[in-house]
Amino acid sequence: MLHTQFDVALVDLDGVVYLGNDPVSHAVPALNAVATQGMALAYVTNNAGRTPDEVASHLCELGLTTSPEQVVTSAQAGAKVLRERLGGGPWPVLVVGGPGVRAAVLAQGMEPVDSADDDPVAVLQGFGRDLCWADLDEASAAVGAGALWIATNPDVSIPTPRGRAPGNGAFVHAVSLATGRSPDQIAGKPHAPLMLESIARTGALRPLVIGDRLDTDIAAAAGVGIVSLLVFTGVSTISNVLRAPSGQRPDLMGLDLRTLFDVHPPVHRQGQQWRAGPCSGGIDDRIGQVVLQGPIDTPADWATACRVACAVAWATAAATDLVAQRLIAAAADLDSDPAR
Ligand SMILES: [Mg+2]
Repeated sequence: MLHTQFDVALVDLDGVVYLGNDPVSHAVPALNAVATQGMALAYVTNNAGRTPDEVASHLCELGLTTSPEQVVTSAQAGAKVLRERLGGGPWPVLVVGGPGVRAAVLAQGMEPVDSADDDPVAVLQGFGRDLCWADLDEASAAVGAGALWIATNPDVSIPTPRGRAPGNGAFVHAVSLATGRSPDQIAGKPHAPLMLESIARTGALRPLVIGDRLDTDIAAAAGVGIVSLLVFTGVSTISNVLRAPSGQRPDLMGLDLRTLFDVHPPVHRQGQQWRAGPCSGGIDDRIGQVVLQGPIDTPADWATACRVACAVAWATAAATDLVAQRLIAAAADLDSDPAR
């Protein structure tokens, strides 16, 4: 079972633990249960706007037993990058973003400033709900003058109940367009610093990254060589993962976080057949489609079937629409919905 195979879970938040203000189905009891049984948890988020205290409070309200020390934000990873690149000293750093960005700069012993006229040596740019043109003006002036420029995360949009809204990446693009520069480094997923900070913080020996997005969570894990688990409670669909490009392919998959208690047998290839547990897969040459054999009676069966289907799809050019339909139908029978 995954919670005994790995010592630390590096857990994404939106789409894994909560959706907006609501908890994801089964997430809170599953996480509390694995923690009780000895798996350490860190909540790893690209959202730089909130402080770890604010994030931890939200998680506690949802019913999780956690503390601010278990929250790792891209603002913290960005401030750590600044500290490593600048060395010691109370360097003035222009803070563009919400309270989480400012707190991260302070925690690294640097001096947050609000104006390019304060001669900042660096800019840490992250999300903030109250950002306005004047903030981007200050950032552009400092970046244009040659300050070291670190972005907390590259997400161009964030999900809201009304659809997509501009994320930090959109504001970074604005400064980039104005100045003709790109950030010197980006801390958050899919880039490495946030993952490396999370591993350093937790002392993980066998970490497991858990996320809902291929292009951030899974790509970040692959980039630093960590095993990844994709859960289908957020943005990714079965069709997405069957067509995932190299570098964005999860090692493990599950309908939801209850899969931490499942056994995930390895996939073995024998010629043109792929097998794991009770499931086997291959290509039906008559129709050029990936096909599966074996029962899908439980969420654990489903996770295994999904991994076999992906192994076939990723190794061949066969079509995947029929196997996607079967997995979606099987998930519906199991009362889960991975194809929203
Ligand atoms: Mg997410």
